[in-house]
Amino acid sequence: MSYDENNIFAKILRGDIPSFKVYEDDYTLAFMDIMPQADGHTLVIPKFKAETLLDIPADELIHTMTTVQKVMSALKSTLGVEGVVLMQLNGEAAGQTVPHLHFHLIPEHLRKLKGHGAEQGDMEKIKALAQKISAAL
Ligand code: AMP
Repeated sequence: MSYDENNIFAKILRGDIPSFKVYEDDYTLAFMDIMPQADGHTLVIPKFKAETLLDIPADELIHTMTTVQKVMSALKSTLGVEGVVLMQLNGEAAGQTVPHLHFHLIPEHLRKLKGHGAEQGDMEKIKALAQKISAAL
């Protein structure tokens, strides 16, 4: 596997570009998607350098999935939603656009989702949601 050190999420992890962070620990980072498919669309990524799900060892993956659980729980409690779509794309052939493993948590019904990476969201609204979600974490 050749990991692209300059992919956008690697830059976010290094602090080279900003993000609306909602949670961080030694192994993972969670932040808002800026082209949300629904309000509260959050991304969870491992700090481990993996492009797809096949590139991360299981002992690293468990930290990521633990954060996915935490963030999902925070989305449900803060936004008052009943359901959360968990989505994860592997490879350009599947539509993956950022080559660093990530899990999309989208608190909306599958049939109501906006287009994938289609339109920049309202940054003030995203910032306010990030504050609300991070307060629960
Ligand atoms: P994927 O197509 O599964 O690789 O998803 C990449 C996601 O990253 C898309 O939903 C984009 O909206 C999102 N995205 C791209 N650039 C940024 C960024 N700078 N900050 C937050 N989310 C981003």
